[in-house]
Amino acid sequence: MTTLTMKFGGTSVGSAEAFTQAAGVVLEQAQKWDRLAVIVSAMSGVTDALIQGARTAASSDGRTYRAIVADLRVRHYRAVDALLTPDGERAQLLATVDDYLDEFAAFCRSVHILGEVTPRAMDAITSLGERISARILAAYLRRRGARSEAVDATELIVTDATFQNAVPLMEATRARIAARLSPLLDDGVIPVVTGFIGATEKGVTTTLGRGGSDYSAAILGDCLDADEVWTWTDVDGVMAADPRIVPDARVIPVLSYGEVSELAYFGAKVLHPRTIRPVVERSIPLWVKNTFNPTCPGTRIVREPESAPGTVKAVTAIEGLSMVTVEGRGMMGVPGIAARTFAAVASQDASVLMISQASSEQSICFIIPTPTVPPVIHALEEEMALELARRDIDQIRSLDDVVIVTAVGAGMRGTPGVASRIFGALGRGNINIIAIAQGSSECSVSLVVAADAAADAIQQIHSEVIING
Ligand code: ASP
Ligand code: MG
Repeated sequence: MTTLTMKFGGTSVGSAEAFTQAAGVVLEQAQKWDRLAVIVSAMSGVTDALIQGARTAASSDGRTYRAIVADLRVRHYRAVDALLTPDGERAQLLATVDDYLDEFAAFCRSVHILGEVTPRAMDAITSLGERISARILAAYLRRRGARSEAVDATELIVTDATFQNAVPLMEATRARIAARLSPLLDDGVIPVVTGFIGATEKGVTTTLGRGGSDYSAAILGDCLDADEVWTWTDVDGVMAADPRIVPDARVIPVLSYGEVSELAYFGAKVLHPRTIRPVVERSIPLWVKNTFNPTCPGTRIVREPESAPGTVKAVTAIEGLSMVTVEGRGMMGVPGIAARTFAAVASQDASVLMISQASSEQSICFIIPTPTVPPVIHALEEEMALELARRDIDQIRSLDDVVIVTAVGAGMRGTPGVASRIFGALGRGNINIIAIAQGSSECSVSLVVAADAAADAIQQIHSEVIING
């Protein structure tokens, strides 16, 4: 018996046309697999709108959420009107949309009165987008002749009570999925499951974190013992570089879990590593595919790297960063300076994206998001007041408008010469490198360059170092 689990992201159900396209994919695969489970995100932008409604309501703005309700009504109505017929389920679906949006408005009213939105309330509110989209897709599949049923993942995915970032409890989840979903699948019904959401043992709605539908798909794939998990998006797969910067960037045919982790960490718009672990650990093949170009194979994600030695597969960048440097000749050999530096940074909740220290120990520099620079510098000056007064530390300074450019590829591991190819490419492009770091996994090399040189750096690395598979 073959089982496929497929997830459609927000853009894949972002309009009536997208729903039509997605349903076409579902119906085609339904012919080919014995069991097919579908997971959907909310229509694109809906989760953001729900969050904005809740936040503005909490901050004494009683008007914005009403406008958002009206706007969401129009968007969902438009889809339902186009997809369902008056003699079919249209009226019923429009009423369903109304029910959920009324619920949203009621939540926002309470939040407005209370003047705050708790994480628990936020999860109840943000779960509504997926509840609606799953019902629209299931109804449309029925209209197209399939047997399909919308299922709320609150019935399937049991989580802890960490609202907004809940952790699935796999054993309980496995049991629920076996009891609720397997009978549908065995009966030839296509369940359309809400992505992103779950519930505690007691039935309180939780969410798995932003972008959590991929996680839902991986959890279902694991619990259903799927042969494959496919996630459908609006690009042909994971690209070697951002096509806005490198127009001829191509899709990467195969990536390992480690490579995906580096890419996700370094800001590329791909799957979150945590979310795909359940499938990768069980070596279930995972594909990223394009709903709007379904014949293109996409990117396959596998557990172990299959790269040829020396292969660099992707180059990516994180923008909006600053480099902070703590320097002074008196720092040399003094234990504890680094620990105190990073404790001060952590006290401001700033996340450090890269660290570099020269062996002379006369400076430590690290990269943080620009908005966190003023509090971090302030915390460092307080922490190091004595060292600054004694001139053991000469200065603490920041350089704004820097970008981390990262080249990723498991094939770099143990292969000499990759770094020199990267530096050579940048040298020929006349691009100044401000700092360098390589992770000990040797799966990536990161360079700090000035923001206005970032596009050139990416293009140079793409054209000279990346081997297009
Ligand atoms: N709708 C949710 C979000 O936008 C989950 C998802 O799209 O994966 O974060
Ligand atoms: Mg989304």
